[in-house]
Amino acid sequence: MPLVDVHCHINHKLFEGKVEEIIANAARAGLKAVVLSGVNPEANLEVLEYAKKYPLIKASLGIYPIDALGLSPDEVGLPHHEGPINLTEQFAFFEANLDKIISIGEVGMDFHWVSKDETFEKQKENFQKIIRFCIKVKKPIVIHSRKAEVECLNVLEEEIKNNEIPVIHHCFGGKKALIKRGAELGHNFSVPANIARNSGFESLVKIVPNKQLLTETDSPWLSPFKGTTNEPANVTESIKKIAEIKELSIKDAEDLVWSNFKRIFNYEEE
Ligand SMILES: [Zn+2]
Repeated sequence: MPLVDVHCHINHKLFEGKVEEIIANAARAGLKAVVLSGVNPEANLEVLEYAKKYPLIKASLGIYPIDALGLSPDEVGLPHHEGPINLTEQFAFFEANLDKIISIGEVGMDFHWVSKDETFEKQKENFQKIIRFCIKVKKPIVIHSRKAEVECLNVLEEEIKNNEIPVIHHCFGGKKALIKRGAELGHNFSVPANIARNSGFESLVKIVPNKQLLTETDSPWLSPFKGTTNEPANVTESIKKIAEIKELSIKDAEDLVWSNFKRIFNYEEE
């Protein structure tokens, strides 16, 4: 009954000097895989370093939509990238490291931090290029779609015609009809650990078929416990809610998510 966190950022400044402790907590809680997500070239280098150093950590290289535009503020707490990201260079870097990575993400579109009017065309163009690259290298794609859920689904539907690659929506904030649409397209959804504090995620678990559910924390953000820093060990909170809503035992919920993880990410247990 291993556990998995398919999306986190434990290379964040808040974990400085505490990474070993956080990983030990995760191992103690039963996690067998913690997928660390990159957001830009600098963060992607760290993701590979962490994955090399800590066997529990699996690497996902990403191009966060705001970073791609060169509009990320400096104070996020993750490595900063100055100016727009050169996608061609990043794709070459991803290709050179394909055997070391489990997925590509986070990528997608975002109209929470930047204006849709001013950035839609460019964000769509970048996202299309990234999806095409993922199809070319046959890697699962992990999607960030804050306030851009419809737009992301539209582009994904246009670009992925025959389920060529698995799609994983991380922290999907879209309404019920959109969750249904994504699920019918065969997309997968990772359930954040703060689900007990967010009725939208409860609906998501109700709507999405069992085989398309995963668990994540998005650490250090979105803690299930007010006033604390989130960490991968907290995926136990996602499991509790999945078990409750899907009427499964805790063990069956854990087994379900773990087998989904292995299938969707083509992960072979060591
Ligand atoms: Zn994230």
